[in-house]
Amino acid sequence: MELVKLIYVSTVSEAFTLSSFEEIMASAQRHNKENSITGVLYFNHKYFMQYLEGDVSDVESTYSRIVKDVRHYNVKLLDKSMLDSRQFGCWSMAYILQSEILKPLNLYFMDSPDFDPYRLNTQSANEIITELKSYLPLAHLHSGGLSKVYR
Ligand code: FAD
Repeated sequence: MELVKLIYVSTVSEAFTLSSFEEIMASAQRHNKENSITGVLYFNHKYFMQYLEGDVSDVESTYSRIVKDVRHYNVKLLDKSMLDSRQFGCWSMAYILQSEILKPLNLYFMDSPDFDPYRLNTQSANEIITELKSYLPLAHLHSGGLSKVYR
């Protein structure tokens, strides 16, 4: 198996409705489990940043579906590279919603307390993904909205 990681950022489109996030997460959980893809999606109602890891062919086919999705646009690939071992092995797709506790992290990596992932480069994107992993349990507690945790 050739393991890769992929990070992209994108912007929420007008096709994104109130139920879209739940639908995207349910779809991601289902497909990713089938394809042994793991990762995390960071979201703030304006932008997405997603990290995917898995076998190269599975990650590529998933990403090509995601890029065509009309619920977002301006998809910018920040990294696609080889990986020795998974970072999010037990998460078919974890999610993190922008919240107060993440503002210092945003400020450090994006020069703004608000989540604006287009300010990231390949290196800082990888660094924030690693940091986000340690925020996962807390971020879910503070997200308030969605109650499901997608493992
Ligand atoms: P289903 O899972 O059956 O779709 C469920 C419902 O979602 C549909 O009934 C429809 O209402 C809506 N829907 C599905 N596709 C679209 C579309 N292209 N445009 C508008 N509405 C649609 N998929 C993954 O497999 N793994 C991921 O990690 C993943 N992450 C995503 C991250 C983002 C930011 C976005 C926007 C999408 C993501 N998706 C992911 C979803 C992906 O883009 C496809 O929509 C999905 O994989 C299609 O699966 P499906 O055909 O089985 O549809």
